[in-house]
Amino acid sequence: MATDVSTSVVTSLSLATLTAVVASVSCCRMHRHCNGEGTCVGIDDGWCSFRNVVSPLGYRLYNMSADTALLETLERGVCSWGERQSAIDGKVTCVRQRSFPDALNTEIMQADASPYHRKYCGKWMDCVRGVAMKYWSLYDTEDVANDVTHAVYSKYHVRNGVSNVGMFHGACVRMELTLSANAASQLAYVYLTSQLLPPQNERDVLSNVGMLSSYFCDAPAVIGVTFHTNPGQGLRLNVSEGTYRSTTEMIRTMYANGASRQAMRDAETMAESIRSSRSWTVSKDDVNAFIEGSVIGSSMEGRTTGILPHGLELRRLAQFIDAMRIHGVEFAHSYVLGLAALCVETVRSLISGDDAVLGAAHPLNDDGLDMFNEEAHTASLGRLPTRRDGERVEAITPQRMLEASSTGLSTLRRHGRVTRARSNRVIERCNRATAMLFADELDKDAFDILVPRPLYDKIQTMDAQIREAVRTSMLGRFVSPLLSNPGRAADLVNASRLRVAGAPRDSWGGRGAAAVAPMFDSDDGAYVMLLKQAKGVYEDRLGLVVAGASMEQFPPLMSPLARNGYMLYLHGVAMLLPGILVPPFASARYDDDSLYSRIGYVIAHEYAHITAGVPWNQFEAMQYLEELGYPPSEHYEAIADITAVSALLDAGLVDRDTLCASVSQLWCASSSLLNSIFVEKIPDGSGSHPPANSRGDRLCAFIYKNYE
Ligand SMILES: [Zn+2]
Repeated sequence: MATDVSTSVVTSLSLATLTAVVASVSCCRMHRHCNGEGTCVGIDDGWCSFRNVVSPLGYRLYNMSADTALLETLERGVCSWGERQSAIDGKVTCVRQRSFPDALNTEIMQADASPYHRKYCGKWMDCVRGVAMKYWSLYDTEDVANDVTHAVYSKYHVRNGVSNVGMFHGACVRMELTLSANAASQLAYVYLTSQLLPPQNERDVLSNVGMLSSYFCDAPAVIGVTFHTNPGQGLRLNVSEGTYRSTTEMIRTMYANGASRQAMRDAETMAESIRSSRSWTVSKDDVNAFIEGSVIGSSMEGRTTGILPHGLELRRLAQFIDAMRIHGVEFAHSYVLGLAALCVETVRSLISGDDAVLGAAHPLNDDGLDMFNEEAHTASLGRLPTRRDGERVEAITPQRMLEASSTGLSTLRRHGRVTRARSNRVIERCNRATAMLFADELDKDAFDILVPRPLYDKIQTMDAQIREAVRTSMLGRFVSPLLSNPGRAADLVNASRLRVAGAPRDSWGGRGAAAVAPMFDSDDGAYVMLLKQAKGVYEDRLGLVVAGASMEQFPPLMSPLARNGYMLYLHGVAMLLPGILVPPFASARYDDDSLYSRIGYVIAHEYAHITAGVPWNQFEAMQYLEELGYPPSEHYEAIADITAVSALLDAGLVDRDTLCASVSQLWCASSSLLNSIFVEKIPDGSGSHPPANSRGDRLCAFIYKNYE
């Protein structure tokens, strides 16, 4: 029996692969054919795209094309189903086909196919099989992000711009054009080390390490912000494990920045001792000195006592202190100078994209760092790096918030590789660095470009209806049996609030607290400005903790250009990033059905994440969700998905066919030939979110089983 099963699995896998190959081949055949005939030229995108070479006869045909179908075929040309040819930067580019007022793209469908994801996306899936997996709803995220940054930064070409972003951008371009990076880097090293206290005792040295940490430099420990698991309390300070960098790297960057020979030798001795130390814990006083050092000279000086974190098991800080006790304060200070030199080098690589000087950083928690392959634009200081493609709209845990607030400079640097590969132009490099460091400013710009006022107003109306629908569904037939106290969950949804990153401060979705920008001097180089900006981000975040601000006041945890949203489920704060308020999730031109079944579904899903913070009837919940096809690792996401669709349907906000079609298209993904075996055929079971394609299929099955 077991043999039969495995044989049939192998057979179906082979069949799937064969089908995939055939489909891909048939999509590429036209390309090869026209290339051979000399009627088209290839587009170097790793797939089979090509560009027509149109003969005079062809142009005659264009002029005669009066009927829509023919026009569509001509406009689609070499692009896949669901895309249209366009010219961007003088190059023929395939862009997402506009479909409105009905957002459903019928062209990519294979109406008579099953399962649902093939029915709603089959033609597109077969046509775009490439190297990496692509979601229909997400594949152009990075392109849109590029368009937005270009639009945003074009305004900084205005001479004598006085905003901080404009000043940095100008300094960056100037530096790159005049090849003065070395001089700017020296300036940054002098600036950073001038912030350090003259080391008279151990406390001063610890204070200096704290100071570097406040610039988001790599240090033995990291200060971040997270939140209390107790819903009554909000933001809280956290100190976590820092990062090691190689000694060779440290010595090399010290040399580059003009450190003395003695200092380099001392730093090397310290580094050896640190590595051989067996210490694990630090004292409360040590941590206190470290934290206080990070706020010296700011308005928070003297106000951080009493906000100490709980755990004092900070191995790297303990090892550093251990080594300091062996070799003395002078040696320890030299090591701190080494950290400063490394930090300046990291800042430098953020613009150059060059990582040749720097070896790999070794963060203790590798868990948060498996996501550096996509969406380079979504990396910004103090915000979450992008997760895997399908992991959207998550319930944010205190650990994830900590990962966001402690995303430091060297984490951003790892994106440098992507930067370098894609852009070797000065402007683009400076754009990218600006996006990484000035995310709070970019929130507003991204919102202004991507979210027209009518759409924002519409979402306000939808928000109230959807929150009420989700509140009701907590008490309804599907969700209430799964929860220990459905009434409590309903109350929590009712008390939750939706925010939109970058929305005007006085509007319904905007931030309340004003952000304070750092002061730039006219003779600061680009690197000094980046350091000051990093410090500004740190002081903004920590200032909210010290002031006891509510969770709602905290800046977004993701880049505004991320096509994503999230829910701080213990505190009822849901967030949409402007990057998701675009097709196929939202558009001011969409009709109500399209809006409610797309961005409406996302909002409902966010509110439904309240369920991640309340007790469940474990047995009933496990059984029910597994019957619907969800493995245990996906249960938090599954219950949010089920709640969202039932809330929308029960409230009569959308009909079942529209909803199934929409979620199918949002979560369908094409895959590489290899992925088609591992992703499409075998349920994932390892991720927090249901896998591509199955996600929509399971929701449609739920919908048609329970709704007439
Ligand atoms: Zn989710």
